[in-house]
Amino acid sequence: MLKNFLPNEHVKSVFDIHPAALKQRGIKGIITDLDNTLVAWDVKNATPEIINWFKQMKDHDITIMIISNNKQERVKIFAEPLDTPFVFSARKPLSHAFKTAANQMGLKKENIVVVGDQLLTDVLGGNFAGFYTILVLPIVQTDGKITQFNRKIERRILNYMRRKGKITWEE
Ligand SMILES: [Mg+2]
Repeated sequence: MLKNFLPNEHVKSVFDIHPAALKQRGIKGIITDLDNTLVAWDVKNATPEIINWFKQMKDHDITIMIISNNKQERVKIFAEPLDTPFVFSARKPLSHAFKTAANQMGLKKENIVVVGDQLLTDVLGGNFAGFYTILVLPIVQTDGKITQFNRKIERRILNYMRRKGKITWEE
């Protein structure tokens, strides 16, 4: 059961995910979370660094799609200037949005990585749907209300994994 919460890989931030390395592994697409993965949950627009990260991926023919449990307005305001397709109210960890995204990207699961900052939504959902999952550290330690509850459970799982030596970063 707990292995469903275990990401295939964990990195500090999306900036540790490099297009050349992805390409080498046959990755052609990224399904990414928005809040606390790309920018802090209360930041409306992409930062210059994120704009550059999206551009780098595009230059390497890696397609990005944002799937977020957040509302349409939030996701749209962020994604549209980046010219990036998105799914809002995605209801992660349910598989539906992940599958919709893969279909829309026209890619197979094996050629996509799922990126996010939460075990209970991004990693669990990505794993359930059969994708390679990459966990990032949340950009800020604060969260929206629903997420605060998830974090409590998550902290327990992370502590357990740390004890078992499965997660090696410090908080
Ligand atoms: Mg998030």
